[in-house]
Amino acid sequence: MALIRSIIFITMIFLKIQILLSAAGEPSLSPSTCDSQKCLLPDCLCTSTTAPGGLNPEEIPQMVFLTFDDAVADVMYPTYQRILQNRINPNSCNIGMTFFVTHEGTNYRLVNELFNRGNEIASHTVMHTMDYEYWKNTSADFWLKEIGYQRHLLHTYGNIPIDKIQGFRAPFLQTGGDATFTALRTLGMNYDSSMTTAELMDPPTWPFTMDYGYGPTHECRDPPCGKESHPGLWSIPIVEFRNGEKGSPCNMADICFPPFKTANPEPYNVTAEEIFNYFMFNFNRFTKTRAPFGIHQHVYWFLNNEPILQGFLQFLDYLATLDYVYIVPISKGIEWMRNPMPLNQMKNKDVFNCDESAKSSAPCRKPQVCYYTQSAPGGPRFMGTCAPCPAEYTWLPDQYDPVPITTTTVPTTTQTIPSTVTYTTSFPNSSASDPDNNNLVMHLILILQGLILGCLHFFC
Ligand SMILES: [Zn+2]
Repeated sequence: MALIRSIIFITMIFLKIQILLSAAGEPSLSPSTCDSQKCLLPDCLCTSTTAPGGLNPEEIPQMVFLTFDDAVADVMYPTYQRILQNRINPNSCNIGMTFFVTHEGTNYRLVNELFNRGNEIASHTVMHTMDYEYWKNTSADFWLKEIGYQRHLLHTYGNIPIDKIQGFRAPFLQTGGDATFTALRTLGMNYDSSMTTAELMDPPTWPFTMDYGYGPTHECRDPPCGKESHPGLWSIPIVEFRNGEKGSPCNMADICFPPFKTANPEPYNVTAEEIFNYFMFNFNRFTKTRAPFGIHQHVYWFLNNEPILQGFLQFLDYLATLDYVYIVPISKGIEWMRNPMPLNQMKNKDVFNCDESAKSSAPCRKPQVCYYTQSAPGGPRFMGTCAPCPAEYTWLPDQYDPVPITTTTVPTTTQTIPSTVTYTTSFPNSSASDPDNNNLVMHLILILQGLILGCLHFFC
């Protein structure tokens, strides 16, 4: 027995060393690996701090990628409305944001509304488990299920066309490196936006394709970052923010500037002016080269503090005065990068157009709220949906066979329910209710559920 224990102990030490070595430094290719003579648009773009196509910064649009992560719940929708309302780009089309949506707490009917307002819906996995190890050393099959099944849920309950769900961000920005990217390619998805960079923030890096892997020129801040080639898969790096000239970098905007600031002699609340200046400072780091300015955050930052929201809205108002700034979903930004063109040519061929076709492709035909009394660990669950309520609250299935992105056929799933939990619905399908017409209590609980889950997900 002692011998076996010794072998296990030595093996664990060995594995730990392997993990630490891996974390200390991914073997990376040299920056020259990507040959810009061979890596050509529209499908290949080397990483760079200068604009694609050799265009001068002064003649191209300043793209702004405004993204939110986690559940889309009732409690946050009014804030999204305040951000979106009456804000248009220089071409008179509505601004567009990107939502990386996770399952638990999400009202898929609101996801549908956001999509129909011109926003992009992307996958943020089903489970959002708060454990880095859960995500870290994983297989492509693991990610196929987490990413692909969340895409399936967005399609099934939010009626978002499968082929419009092109992007992904990992919970806690913790990918499995090549396993994640391989899964994205297998699913036919277009981009990842999980990787952060602080080394390439002044000047900021442009997005690039991973034909030569992720490693060549970007530091690996959250290993594993991968070293394999992933042709045509775009990486939209999260270029870190900084809280002032001497401030430390931080990956998400809401982490860099917490609502409550400690200072001597007393802590004080952040003001709208400070937030406005914070966004301006970071925006000005991007305008020199006009690399896409990514604002990546969680909406709970705003819900908890009106001055922060006010400062942010004032910043958006300022952007609206600039005739070269376009707040667009990431997928539209990729369209521009695939065929970069100066502003004066965009008057004839505008990739940031209003895209009215989305509305007819994604109606919410049967809006309702589904209620499950004992549907999952943690108690009852509510789920807003555009489709008939499933008999049981949906969780990650044991098996999932994703279909190609071009088909809208609902894939076959096998959902295994833990035997220790009794799954019942006190409101079977026939009693599912239209949230507009009745059941105020259900809505209040839905809002409360969103608030609790959202707080749990804050900063992830
Ligand atoms: Zn998250």
